[in-house]
Amino acid sequence: MEPADAARISSYHAHIYYMDAAEREAAATLRERIGARFSVRLGRWHDQLVGPHARPMYQVAFLPEQFPHFIPWLMLNRGDLAVLVHPNSGNPRRDHLQHPFWMGEVLPIMHPELLAQSDADEEPEDVSPNTLPQDSQ
Ligand code: ZN
Repeated sequence: MEPADAARISSYHAHIYYMDAAEREAAATLRERIGARFSVRLGRWHDQLVGPHARPMYQVAFLPEQFPHFIPWLMLNRGDLAVLVHPNSGNPRRDHLQHPFWMGEVLPIMHPELLAQSDADEEPEDVSPNTLPQDSQ
């Protein structure tokens, strides 16, 4: 099998998980700091479990060009929060099960059989930034 071309990655998600009120507070502080520093798309809070996620979370969607800026910063600033980073390369099941990496605790991926094997028919996801970063990082 030929190696996959990383140019297939159209965007990434970082899912920031929290499990109690204290972690939700930490996640809120982290969210504010992300929004102040990076051109990313902050997703809604999901206090109820959704999709393949085993814990409440919010999503941060970002373009590949943000990766070398945002990910190292997140490594140093996530505190104790569990974080899933996965690419969006056209196969949601593989992107969640095979291609991701975790920071901190590794959580299960729920109901993986519900993740599509291809999203070729879907509209491209809107990852246009909804943050207004200031200068300093
Ligand atoms: Zn995701």
